[in-house]
Amino acid sequence: MNDCLFCKIIAGEIPSEKVYQDDLVTAFRDINPVAPTHILIIPNKHIATINDLTLEDENLVGHLFTTGKTLAKEDGIDESGYRLIINVNRDGGQEIYHLHLHLIGGQKMRHPMG
Ligand code: AMP
Ligand code: ZN
Repeated sequence: MNDCLFCKIIAGEIPSEKVYQDDLVTAFRDINPVAPTHILIIPNKHIATINDLTLEDENLVGHLFTTGKTLAKEDGIDESGYRLIINVNRDGGQEIYHLHLHLIGGQKMRHPMG
């Protein structure tokens, strides 16, 4: 049995504020937003981390990013600006082990690299 929280969100077994879904990806609002727009875009198939990607996933990863830019425009932050972030493993700050792209924007953010 798959015990993954995000797989359950995709399946609709756990409620979420979905903003987009197609054959490849699902997007929903982060439950603990760090900015006015904070959306998670995830592949519908379970991939734990970026480290688990294969060449076959290249289209899928591209689609995560094009979905990110489309949703940024829908939330009205495409011109003001936003971040697209993927955290990988412990030191990268990954807490949920189902690959996800954070779309974050709607306010000026401190640069993470100082
Ligand atoms: P990360 O640290 O990159 O793994 O990010 C995990 C993100 O998932 C965090 O920003 C959490 O706030 C978010 N999150 C955890 N549980 C839920 C949930 N049930 N619905 C929406 N977002 C969630
Ligand atoms: Zn999963």
